[in-house]
Amino acid sequence: MSKPILGIIGGGQLGSMLAMAAHKLEIKTVIFCDDIEAPAQKFANDFVYGEYNDHNKILEFINKVDVITYEFENIPYKTLNEINKTKPVLPKPSINRIIQHRLAEKDFINNLNIRTTRYISIKKRSEMNSVQDLLPALLKTVTLGYDGKGQYPINSLEKLDSINIDYSKGYILEKLVKLKKEISIIITRFENQKYEIYEPIENIHENQILRNSKIPAEISDKIFKQSKLWATQIAEELKYVGTLCVEFFIDRNDNLYVNEIAPRVHNSGHLTINAFNISQFENHIRAVCRLEQIPIKKLSNAKMTNIIGKEIISYRNKQYTENEFFFDYSKKEIKQKRKMGHLTTLLS
Ligand code: ADP
Ligand code: MG
Repeated sequence: MSKPILGIIGGGQLGSMLAMAAHKLEIKTVIFCDDIEAPAQKFANDFVYGEYNDHNKILEFINKVDVITYEFENIPYKTLNEINKTKPVLPKPSINRIIQHRLAEKDFINNLNIRTTRYISIKKRSEMNSVQDLLPALLKTVTLGYDGKGQYPINSLEKLDSINIDYSKGYILEKLVKLKKEISIIITRFENQKYEIYEPIENIHENQILRNSKIPAEISDKIFKQSKLWATQIAEELKYVGTLCVEFFIDRNDNLYVNEIAPRVHNSGHLTINAFNISQFENHIRAVCRLEQIPIKKLSNAKMTNIIGKEIISYRNKQYTENEFFFDYSKKEIKQKRKMGHLTTLLS
């Protein structure tokens, strides 16, 4: 059987790393992106530039590919659904619909009897008057947030009136967890219900943006097992195909909570490129293109550092050892708080 041509929606760093993994597997890729300078186009075989709701551009893209995946979850559901009528979209659009909405996502997780932080839906200012027992809390937009964007810390109700919030967007108010640690699990589910699951990754965030990830995570055996079990349960319930990330909180009493799910490859899994025989990207391609599943094996412990904003300039001029792997996302513009690259260091 000839190999399928893979369409990838989104052309940022995750799209780049997916296209590189596909290239290694001799899978041709086409990127569809609304940014004419999308960095991923230089790793792909073809590129379609267009808005995600441009019907003609969507058609042009569909005609070039056999199967479609995406690098970020905030693609309009209508677009994914329209594409899925002609060519398979994996992970399924119905999964994306749940996960791109913070309330639907948390309800889904709680229905599996998996712990999340306490939360309520907020659609108007007056609903904030009865939330005293959730404070301190974070008010987050239900859709379109990433890297902490669209999030407001709320310590007291008095503070509310000093910030300008458009309640019609729809919000979720989440109780703040007193964090001891954050971890994530990257799992790839194949169509035949088999899995490849990476060990828990320990993550450090700064200003709600991921700064460092490392393996092994320093956690108890109980958390190690529980996090893997919950991630597997979530992937199974969604009948997921491809790579998925589950982000967790661990509180000071060693309770585990699911924070959120990313229906895609994830920043905390970048270290899998150098620390494992098969990366999260390659596993994603293998699952969505129905290639052979190969058991994962850890080659080394590792640490990954995100390079943010202007920091990239000095990293571009550094010399690296054979245990250091620098990846420059080649973004045209340096912006504050923007992920510009990463460095993975293999540890003994
Ligand atoms: P994003 O979609 O921007 O990644 P998250 O909900 O994962 O949003 O929040 C980003 C980070 O902010 C988390 O990784 C964590 O460090 C912090 N955070 C978010 N929600 C909470 C919470 N309820 N309690 C404690 N910390 C939180
Ligand atoms: Mg997150």
